[in-house]
Amino acid sequence: MKTALKRILKPVLESVVGVLGPHERAARPARLWLLMYHRVLPDSDPRFVLEEPGMLLQPDTLERHIQELRREFELVSLREWVEHREQGRQLPPKACALTFDDGWADNYEYAFPVLRALSAPATVFAVAAKIGTDFKFWPNIVGTLLGSGQQAALAAHPLLSDSLTGTGGNADQVQIAQVISRLKVHSDLQLHAALEQIEWRKYLAPRASSDLMDWQQMREMRASGLVEIGSHTCTHSRLTRLTSQAELQHEIVESKHILESRLGSPIDLFCFPDGDYNAQALSLVREHYRASVTTRRGINSAAQVDLHQLRRIAMHDEMTSTRTRLRARLSGWI
Ligand SMILES: [Zn+2]
Repeated sequence: MKTALKRILKPVLESVVGVLGPHERAARPARLWLLMYHRVLPDSDPRFVLEEPGMLLQPDTLERHIQELRREFELVSLREWVEHREQGRQLPPKACALTFDDGWADNYEYAFPVLRALSAPATVFAVAAKIGTDFKFWPNIVGTLLGSGQQAALAAHPLLSDSLTGTGGNADQVQIAQVISRLKVHSDLQLHAALEQIEWRKYLAPRASSDLMDWQQMREMRASGLVEIGSHTCTHSRLTRLTSQAELQHEIVESKHILESRLGSPIDLFCFPDGDYNAQALSLVREHYRASVTTRRGINSAAQVDLHQLRRIAMHDEMTSTRTRLRARLSGWI
């Protein structure tokens, strides 16, 4: 009953907040809408079905987003907005910046052509020590194994088998997302170690392409003048799970050095993996970066914002594929 009612009320709610939300009101003071994207893949791509729905957006949707956003926002580069804010210069009343987390190869394949065609600026947050490697994020290893009927392989390790309840045969996107969410109680280090122990590589067909971009692709995106690169740590470890200052230092400071030396320019922006941080991590990020982004939902007011705890709005196909849904999402309320 509750679900049925929700299904009926949701479109009504979406239309109402889409019209009444803060993005519709006179813009005072200047504000920044920061949009958070992850993977950009068409549903015809074999990688699409193996990913959690909350991570996905189709290239056509991205194109529509940019066209729609331009009707009421000024699309800006996050770094430039931060610079202007630091220098006390005038900011657009309603600025909007696109951010892409993790540095997925599909961002180069599918998002970059859209950004270039529409001359839209964006920031990509890269996992510095994994660029150009065959690294797979643990949720993708788990998702690929479950999606190809290989749960027996996962069941061989107690840490992984505990989260497998309810999956049988080839798991679908929803089942995969449930297992991943249950596994998040463990640290990234524990999960990667467990997957190494079951020797996950032997269960998967070798793939021609890597999940993440390589340095050449990253340089090409930067050279377009549209894409800025920021750090998303060295290994994508959730920072609140790290136990020593040395580990934090490595993830936050070393990632900046790797990116700066390979790309040949300053790296000023940082993104917290999974949005997780504590006082220790935040203070180190403040010391080494001009600004950082979180996964806390909201719209940033230039007058009050803490540049190191910028809020974002997550964008994925399910929530933003129609104009009404996109507008509702931009309200920052749903
Ligand atoms: Zn990430």
